[in-house]
Amino acid sequence: MVEIKTDAALEAMREAGRVVGDALDAVRRAAAVGVSLKELDEVARDVLRAAGATSPFLGYRPDFADTPFPGVICSSVNDAVVHGIPTDYRLRDGDLVGIDCGAQLGGWAGDAAISFTVGTPRPADLALIDTTERALAAGIAAAVVDARIGDISHAIGSVGRAAGYGILAGFGGHGVGRSMHEDPHVANDGRPGRGMRLRHGMVLAIEPMFLAGGRDSYRVAADGWSLLTDDGSRGAHAEHTVAITQDGPRFLTLPS
Ligand code: MG
Ligand code: MG
Repeated sequence: MVEIKTDAALEAMREAGRVVGDALDAVRRAAAVGVSLKELDEVARDVLRAAGATSPFLGYRPDFADTPFPGVICSSVNDAVVHGIPTDYRLRDGDLVGIDCGAQLGGWAGDAAISFTVGTPRPADLALIDTTERALAAGIAAAVVDARIGDISHAIGSVGRAAGYGILAGFGGHGVGRSMHEDPHVANDGRPGRGMRLRHGMVLAIEPMFLAGGRDSYRVAADGWSLLTDDGSRGAHAEHTVAITQDGPRFLTLPS
């Protein structure tokens, strides 16, 4: 079931989303060569705590996971595309880092992700990140009243395929509301004009996940969580939680 939010609920969701945006901002500023993923997780924990928010990631255990998730961020480095556990790994020069973060505040959830490099970037990584962000922007631009879910999927997929990237198979965006993962699923590739019609008050997390090697397939790391490209190429992820409104898409997870 897809819940249609009142305008008051959208205001409350903006406050949850703001915490996510602020946490990602803080993590990005703290990230540098030599900083550990656990330290980045601590940075995000501090932002959530200061805002009175809790983490929908911490302790999360979907069907595919054998162990509950131990962090408030997913930190996915290089060939890890998503779901990376914040470990003691210290960032190295040229790493490509994806950070995904959620927050729960006032009964509502927010979910967003960014990708960036630390130290001296590889040009190929900058291109991958730029394309992933362009796909996110295209998906969001398609998230308008009376469009369909498939229009978002098509917009995202077209950008990724045109660049020759793979699209992480089976994963995509989702509804957001009182919990982080709700209906509907928003695939990152697909045909336009298909699927559920978008209405004012629907809230979606839109999140392209692109694989530089051009293949869609992945493997699960030994930690049971991280999803790795199966050709060793790098991946990037970008995400915002967005409300569909009569005035156009409204970003709920921008920082303050
Ligand atoms: Mg996310
Ligand atoms: Mg998400």
